[in-house]
Amino acid sequence: NIQHLIDLRPVVEEALRLLRATVPRMIDIRLEADTHPPPVMADATQVHQVLMNLGKNACDAMLSHGGTLTIRLTEDHIDSLRDSPSPDLHPGRYLRISVADTGTGIPPELIERVFEPFFTTKGHGEGTGLGLSVVHGIVRGHHGAILVHSQPGTGTVFDLYFPAAAREA
Ligand code: ADP
Ligand code: MG
Repeated sequence: NIQHLIDLRPVVEEALRLLRATVPRMIDIRLEADTHPPPVMADATQVHQVLMNLGKNACDAMLSHGGTLTIRLTEDHIDSLRDSPSPDLHPGRYLRISVADTGTGIPPELIERVFEPFFTTKGHGEGTGLGLSVVHGIVRGHHGAILVHSQPGTGTVFDLYFPAAAREA
């Protein structure tokens, strides 16, 4: 884990380029990004891995009907713990990366388990159940947080929060 102050936008763009090259054309992949998202202390290789794991899951969930994968890269501010979407997220300035799909969704009774190592609903040889546990570990290694919202039949959103580096004085 070697972290540098970096702009994650090119890292996201590279991951999307790779995903586009591998998924069927009925899956549309879009990027919506702030022009200058805040830089973060991050290991680009690890963040790349996170995006590939989330992107792969999103595409798996859309394989039967196609759909849209949207990655959003925006600056976000959490003003107080009361407004925080998670107890892991302290007030402050963040880079938020949202990975949203229009796939099958995750049943509410399973959503708490998706970050567990070896939890998978995929068939033998199709899923190891390790993707999201790796994602979770990497995000924690960056002092960030990951939240998931899902609705069966509508889709799933994973929100990643990376603490923004302090602005230059
Ligand atoms: P794997 O992809 O090998 O099954 P993961 O850890 O990547 O393992 O994901 C665990 C499980 O979480 C998946 O098997 C699936 O049931 C669920 N899941 C993860 N992402 C999504 C998604 N975007 N849409 C629907 N289900 C998902
Ligand atoms: Mg996976």
